[in-house]
Amino acid sequence: MRIVGLTGGIGTGKSTVARFFREEGIPVVDADRISRDILESGRDAFRQVVLRFGSDLLMADGRIDRKKLGDRVFSDPAARADLEAITHPGIRDGIVSALRALEAEGHDVAIVEAALIHEKGRGDLFQAVIGVHCDPSRQVERIMARDGTSRDQALARIAAQMDPVGKARASDYVIDNSGDLENTRRQVASLARVLRPL
Ligand code: ADP
Repeated sequence: MRIVGLTGGIGTGKSTVARFFREEGIPVVDADRISRDILESGRDAFRQVVLRFGSDLLMADGRIDRKKLGDRVFSDPAARADLEAITHPGIRDGIVSALRALEAEGHDVAIVEAALIHEKGRGDLFQAVIGVHCDPSRQVERIMARDGTSRDQALARIAAQMDPVGKARASDYVIDNSGDLENTRRQVASLARVLRPL
């Protein structure tokens, strides 16, 4: 099975592009969702995160407050490295088992949507990587509208990530999501034709 990464900065349109690929019949594994799953109560990563970051991270219902956790690691590289060391093996295992299941279902191509493919190095999992990018001013406006954040908060979240031009350069295929949804849908449809083995 051909495995293709899908990445891009926050608010560039990864989830939107992932939805269009699914509509084209190409399955997409969502790494962010897997990272949420492994932090559920009772999982190993849950216990290790509570040990490392303290139980004040827990909400009244006993689950990890992901927003609080995100704020804690946002400006503290050592804390962020610890969190990644705890979660990454489980995320990778989750991705690999989701891909195995898709292969067993007979799919010949699958996409993995993950925010940090370039930052972490492509590794040996992906045969190709698709980068999603969009005009920076649109990116800021879409983050503000989606997440209800201020302009400054949106800019800070963008600044914490690798620069988009570097990301686009490191990609084999680029989807430009600066235009309207129909325009992006058309780009996805043509790329889907390229990705499907003949
Ligand atoms: P990401 O997954 O990269 O963070 P999303 O796919 O969630 O980005 O897109 C960010 C926001 O912008 C979402 O609310 C989405 O609905 C909206 N959006 C994405 N692409 C477009 C587009 N081409 N035109 C208008 N709105 C868009």
